[in-house]
Amino acid sequence: MPHRPNRLYLSSDALVANWRALARLSGPAACGAAVKADGYGLGARAVVQRLIGAGCRDLFVASWAEAEELADLAREAGVSLAVLHGLREADLTLLAALPDVRPVLSTAAQVARWRFAAPGRACDVMVDTGMNRLGIAAEEIAAGLLDDVVVDTLMSHLACADEPGHAMNEAQRARFAALAGRTNAARMSLANSAGIALGAGYHFDLTRPGLALYGGVPVAGLVGAICPVATIAAEVLQCRTIAAGETVGYNATWQASAETRVAIVNLGYADGYRRALSSRGCAFAGDAALPVVGRVSMDLVALDVGRADVREGDWVRFDDDLVHVAEASGISQYELLTGMGRRFDRHWS
Ligand SMILES: *Cc1c(COP(=O)(O)O)cnc(C)c1O
Repeated sequence: MPHRPNRLYLSSDALVANWRALARLSGPAACGAAVKADGYGLGARAVVQRLIGAGCRDLFVASWAEAEELADLAREAGVSLAVLHGLREADLTLLAALPDVRPVLSTAAQVARWRFAAPGRACDVMVDTGMNRLGIAAEEIAAGLLDDVVVDTLMSHLACADEPGHAMNEAQRARFAALAGRTNAARMSLANSAGIALGAGYHFDLTRPGLALYGGVPVAGLVGAICPVATIAAEVLQCRTIAAGETVGYNATWQASAETRVAIVNLGYADGYRRALSSRGCAFAGDAALPVVGRVSMDLVALDVGRADVREGDWVRFDDDLVHVAEASGISQYELLTGMGRRFDRHWS
């Protein structure tokens, strides 16, 4: 698809400014970047090039396939690249080809696999401190599971960082802090984006923001520090005037109370413009807000253009404030970003 019908406008300045803001908020801790899921849908290679340029030295992906996509960039820059989902049997074939990549080991079986497959090579380790997702138990460390394993970064993950008052945060922080000095790990890392805002006690040696790099604001403590990075733009395919009493779209869910100018735009739920934004989303032509009217279709959405001068062939921009869109749709900022479809040309500025 050389000419995809829709555009994603991406701001290098905003991405870099967000990383710098998170690095500043991380205090003396280094600030890494979670670039899994294709850089949260924005395009991992382009994201990584810009973050490396800004000074980021630690990258996290989910799988070895994602690591393979980025390994050349990381190697050229001498930047660390870690695979959060550890080392499955099927990943062993990639170890030799990706000699600088580290798995984040999270089970005793993975530790055994790593000892056998890559003796002496450095890895990272995930320890579970209460989320009960991935990670070895603190008791396994005490029992010697990591003795003789070269650990670069010992990490854990917060379950409730976006709820600053939640008791889980302090409980996880304390359990993690108690592991200091109990392994040969060179560094410790706990905080994701929201965890950075919890304060210095959560920063340890390295932070791992994802969402906030890409313009997401998971917690009030980051409001004002983070700006939008990605803006969807789509083309008006047809304009029409709807008479009072007429309806728009599938199931006739929206009815004009007065004569209304409507633009039909080349974007729909197949592009990740969620159906939950039916009669709730918003686009802009210049400063004029253009509310979504009626159901979002697979490939189309209708906008009330009011008195704005919007014509066939014009491009409109959709609301890029992820907090707004998440509130309007009831869908998380994470899902909104990673759910964007494949029909966008990415335009980096
Ligand atoms: C995805 C992920 C992150 C980044 O989390 P955000 O909430 O997007 O900042 C950090 N650490 C781990 C282990 C992750 O899986």
